[in-house]
Amino acid sequence: MSEREPVIGIDLGTTNSVVATVQGNQPAVIRNRSGATLTPSVVAVSKTGKRLVGQIAKRQAITNPEETVYAAKRLIGRKFSSQQVQEAMKVLSYQVICGEHDDIRIRLEGREVSLPEISAMVLREIKADADAFFGKPVTKAIITVPAYFNDGQRQATKDAGRIAGLDVLRIINEPTAAALAYGFGKTVNGKIAIFDLGGGTFDISVLEVGNGVFDVIATGGDTFLGGEDFDNRIIEWLVFGFAKEHGVDLRKDRMALQRLKTEAEKAKIELSTIKEAQINLPFIYTPPGGGTALHLQKALSREKLDELCADLVDRCITHCDAVLKEAKVKASDLKEMILVGGMTRMPKVVDAVKAYFKRDPCKGVHPDEVVALGAAVQANALVSEEAQVLLLDVTPQSLGVAIAGGYVRKLIPRNTTVPTSTTELFNTSKDGQTTVKIMVLQGESELAHQNELLGEFILTGLREAKRGEVEIEVTFDINSEGIVSVGARDKETGQRQSITVTASGGLTEDELKKIMEEQSDYLLEAKAGEESRNKKTELENIIKEVTALIPQVQQVTEGSEFGVDAVAKAVKSLEGAKRALEGGSLTALSDAIDTLNRTLNLFRGVLQRIGTR
Ligand code: AMP
Repeated sequence: MSEREPVIGIDLGTTNSVVATVQGNQPAVIRNRSGATLTPSVVAVSKTGKRLVGQIAKRQAITNPEETVYAAKRLIGRKFSSQQVQEAMKVLSYQVICGEHDDIRIRLEGREVSLPEISAMVLREIKADADAFFGKPVTKAIITVPAYFNDGQRQATKDAGRIAGLDVLRIINEPTAAALAYGFGKTVNGKIAIFDLGGGTFDISVLEVGNGVFDVIATGGDTFLGGEDFDNRIIEWLVFGFAKEHGVDLRKDRMALQRLKTEAEKAKIELSTIKEAQINLPFIYTPPGGGTALHLQKALSREKLDELCADLVDRCITHCDAVLKEAKVKASDLKEMILVGGMTRMPKVVDAVKAYFKRDPCKGVHPDEVVALGAAVQANALVSEEAQVLLLDVTPQSLGVAIAGGYVRKLIPRNTTVPTSTTELFNTSKDGQTTVKIMVLQGESELAHQNELLGEFILTGLREAKRGEVEIEVTFDINSEGIVSVGARDKETGQRQSITVTASGGLTEDELKKIMEEQSDYLLEAKAGEESRNKKTELENIIKEVTALIPQVQQVTEGSEFGVDAVAKAVKSLEGAKRALEGGSLTALSDAIDTLNRTLNLFRGVLQRIGTR
């Protein structure tokens, strides 16, 4: 029998990356060529023009801040103009540039480099370590991503793998990988929770585990909540303290910023074991044109760190609460609570978890290695026939299409098990409409512009007919990696258009809102199901009633301030109701009915009390 081609599992982390494989039926971490299990996810170009990756890049970061890129995972698959990116940029020592489509580029090696290319540099290094370990090239790999990564972020990670010369068998979620490693070789039956706080992201997942099946019930989190935010709190505290004392803003100096970052992280890590950390940054500021250099010297206590980061820890617990509710699971129903990610070594985090879940977390897993080990278990299961593992993951965010009125029609709600597929019928929203624009959105808001636009395409050649007469069938498919394909078919002609959604890479909320307004001629209308038809009729009746009462209310209140105000509010509610009628979203219709019912009650009360006086 020919020897099987090696496969690897890669945890591509914000701060560090880890690679593992299954050998002799046991998952194990592959050490890098320096003998370490963690490879810093840092890329740099040295002063002599040499590309550096990993520990060697991290080590020279302070003296080469502008050409050293770290925490790229926080930016991958995001838009330059997003608030989170704008916020993150304030404390990044390297140069972040806006690409042509609002995508993010980084200035490195004298050119503008995309985020997948940066991540690919880290992956190439990891691949080289694995090649050295096996003594032959390794191509097949699984890469993990935070469960809460959206489609664009997943696609970008997959692209990074491809650029690095890897055949990415699958993208899997980090907490799910951790559960696989936890369950490996054990008989576990029951529900478990994975609390994963890493360098840049936070995930919480609840899984039902039994007989080799890992079934994710619910997942949630925040892709902008992790160790970097804790470090930034310390940096801000140091920067503001220094500005108060010396009137100097250290953030303007990239080298000072990089030194602050290194010291802040060091102090944070020390404070997991000791009560007070010393921060020493001699010659942190030299006045231009000479003068006496300034030093920064401060003691940071564990209490102070806990105080600076209290809201970050609270945010993690708020997500836990939401996910447990969504999974319809009580903390006491859980068999095990597993901590993953370097940040779960912080005592305040452990205390908060213990208090919320009312139990001690599981001690049997290595927080830094467990994700890569799980990825290796899954990679092995994919290529070997004996391995018995079934992974049932979920889609972390809802998916839908934009419909007339600026709303979203959700086709796949969040926490639906993947792979999944669904088809729904829509109508044209305007008389004579011959094209429809299918805008694929991901997120939880009912309003289209508050979601992420994943992609869009146009279906043309529709029969010219009255609004609502032409039917369009829209199909969504999500594969087991969480990657989305969307198709649309004109029911009459059978003509179809489809896309595998790729990150739109670039529309801001405002742009999306504008498109929604401008393109209303091309938009779909949700097909009026019975429920929606009934609601529409109910709303139309209330609109008539409220409209009829306005002159009467105006008469009895005789232009009083109260009357003017009540009528103005009613007019606004009527406008909203008409938009809801156009859009046809069930929630929007229900909301409009509630609002107008309140107006109706107010009007009736006014007419009864004042009108009969
Ligand atoms: P990961 O993405 O899982 O590698 O987590 C990396 C994050 O964990 C970084 O922000 C580290 O600073 C942080 N970290 C690692 N060790 C510790 C520790 N002992 N105490 C607090 N934070 C830590």
